[in-house]
Amino acid sequence: MNVQDRIEKLRKIIDLNSYKYYVEDNPDLEDWEYDNLFKELKTLEAEFPQYIIPESPTQRVGGISEKFNQVAHKNRLYSLDNSNNEEELKLWYNRVLKDVGVQKTSQLSLLDSNFEDIELACELKIDGLAVSLIYKNGKFVQGLTRGDGIIGEDITNNLKTIKSIPLKLFEDIDIEVRGEIYMPISSFNNLNKIQLNNNQKAFANPRNAASGSIRQLDPNITASRDLSIFVYAAIFKKDAKILTHTDAMDMCKKLGFKVNNYKKCSNISEAIDFCNEMQEYRKTLDYATDGVVIKVNSFAMQNELGYTARAPKWATAFKFPPQEVWSKLINVEFSVGRTGVVTPVAIIRPVNLSGSVVSRASMYNFDEIQRLGICLNDEVLIKKAAEIIPKVVRSRKSSDSLPLDLPQNCPCCNTPLIEIEGEVARYCPNTKGCKAQIKGRIEYFVSKAAMDIDGFGESIIEQLVEKKYVYKPSDIYKLTYEDFLSLDLVKDKSANNLLEAVEKSKNVLLSKFINALGIRLVGKESSDILAQNYENINQLKTAKYEDLAEIMGIGEKMAKSIIDYFNDAENVAMIDEMIAMGVKISNKYNGVIDLKLKGLSFVITGTLESMSREHAQEKLKELGAKTPSSVSKNTSYVVVGANPGSKAVKAGELGIKILSEKELLDIIGENSYE
Ligand code: NAD
Repeated sequence: MNVQDRIEKLRKIIDLNSYKYYVEDNPDLEDWEYDNLFKELKTLEAEFPQYIIPESPTQRVGGISEKFNQVAHKNRLYSLDNSNNEEELKLWYNRVLKDVGVQKTSQLSLLDSNFEDIELACELKIDGLAVSLIYKNGKFVQGLTRGDGIIGEDITNNLKTIKSIPLKLFEDIDIEVRGEIYMPISSFNNLNKIQLNNNQKAFANPRNAASGSIRQLDPNITASRDLSIFVYAAIFKKDAKILTHTDAMDMCKKLGFKVNNYKKCSNISEAIDFCNEMQEYRKTLDYATDGVVIKVNSFAMQNELGYTARAPKWATAFKFPPQEVWSKLINVEFSVGRTGVVTPVAIIRPVNLSGSVVSRASMYNFDEIQRLGICLNDEVLIKKAAEIIPKVVRSRKSSDSLPLDLPQNCPCCNTPLIEIEGEVARYCPNTKGCKAQIKGRIEYFVSKAAMDIDGFGESIIEQLVEKKYVYKPSDIYKLTYEDFLSLDLVKDKSANNLLEAVEKSKNVLLSKFINALGIRLVGKESSDILAQNYENINQLKTAKYEDLAEIMGIGEKMAKSIIDYFNDAENVAMIDEMIAMGVKISNKYNGVIDLKLKGLSFVITGTLESMSREHAQEKLKELGAKTPSSVSKNTSYVVVGANPGSKAVKAGELGIKILSEKELLDIIGENSYE
């Protein structure tokens, strides 16, 4: 594979996983795996700058979902660049000294640096979700997620439910602070127990639990979760005379914010000592931390150092190394999921890994097993970063190592496995006949986030599929009292309960119904987004690929998967059958979401004064409009900013109505965001 192909492949994988992490709160990769891919991309781009493009993940920050109001940040939010070891920390410090350091007048020894040391502020890096909080006159008025750094999601009402966020400060001042929302580890463990009891998916780690809890459409759900905040940055008015980061943090404490302890260090060696100390200390804490953030303390120097496209040059995040342990690979199980993905799971000799006994570990996919050359009975290195599921990352041979046969056929139905272009997973293509997939789909269909049918445990589903009562989800609505009674351990009362639960599930929300269909790549969050954009299932059934792909949070891959799903006549027939059997689908978003610009298209040309073009486009999309990049006879309006291009001329030629920036602001209901 040549460099350009590798760069493109890395971008694809990183983009897909960023989406899963930031938008769906449901990452597949561990952070250190993601970080390694990101680092490889950065290194390749540094070596071959001709391949850098503005859309590269190295040039931007995070992601945003469409389910909340999107608001432009007054001051941009950034990510952080990482340092993985002492050497990288020293390299960062030397770059800082070179840029803003003061030359020493005399040099005592040749080993000394040429520069005076610079004061640094060190803090624990909290593994949560960044938010910006705006206070006017001492009152909390707005809270946004970091989003892509330029635009954030408005989660004010949810943030108001967090007790450690003051609604009123001790002084009546205007201030913006940034902080990390987190869920204590003990609360995370409790929440996961509840999720599993309710047949819902457990969160991968406290960070995802915090992010999933704060980005809820219903603030009552957020209020029911134990969340807290540490504030780590503040933007004061220019005349506030606060000159350093640590003074800003002291001031934040005085105003009533929860601020974590910091340590002032007079050079990088002291900062390195602090990082080493924290690696042990963090284990005593009830909140997840993934490193130490080291910041140049002086604001004047921070300003001078500035930012790259995605991170400040005046700070670096020292990432704690993931925890790891060696064990023996006893066996490998291959399980088949509802979409046919075959996942290898390592069965290992039980070992203690950061406080818990581990006997199973994820093995990524077939390619990775081959790349790592893993054999049965090998010694395998198991890693765990933060509180995530452990994974096998390396292997070494032992005297009794045996070759590991990777199945060519489905371990359940024996159909030859296939690969899908652009994906690393191997699939069983026998969607309709593979029992493992049928069971997986039924389990998913009845789950809380889908049709929410009570009482359909593993054993009931197993029997229903084995007895061939159920092949596809809609068959559930054909089950009779006698069918249930014929199952092991089902008596009169539970047969009636099951029938009742099936009946009750017939009144369902569109978002849950879409989720229940189990369309490949479409999860709970995406189903919610689809229900916001389509009034009913018939509209979604006939949706066009271009329209779907343009929806923020859906994208091309998912759009294709949705089109493929509805192009299959059996799927459409199954939906029709369910409706004919009395399933009633209502949409809670109908009439709630203001899609006043539905069916209209706006092209923007020239520079807008009050906001970026991207922000205006997002706002228009939020209201249902399309924002193509070129003018055609189908364009409804052309918005003309300063120094417009040829699009304004073309609009004139085609007789398309021209709007000024002021008219645009009236339409999108914004005066300006400054
Ligand atoms: P980041 O976590 O590397 O660092 C930036 C963030 O650190 C800031 O936005 C802020 O929210 C936070 N932070 C916590 N304590 C802080 C403090 N004291 N001072 C300043 N900031 C503090 O940034 P990111 O851009 O959100 O994400 C990148 C990271 O997310 C990656 O390193 C990766 O580990 C993870 N990620 C993982 C996946 C995955 O698939 N597992 C996907 C995308 C991103």
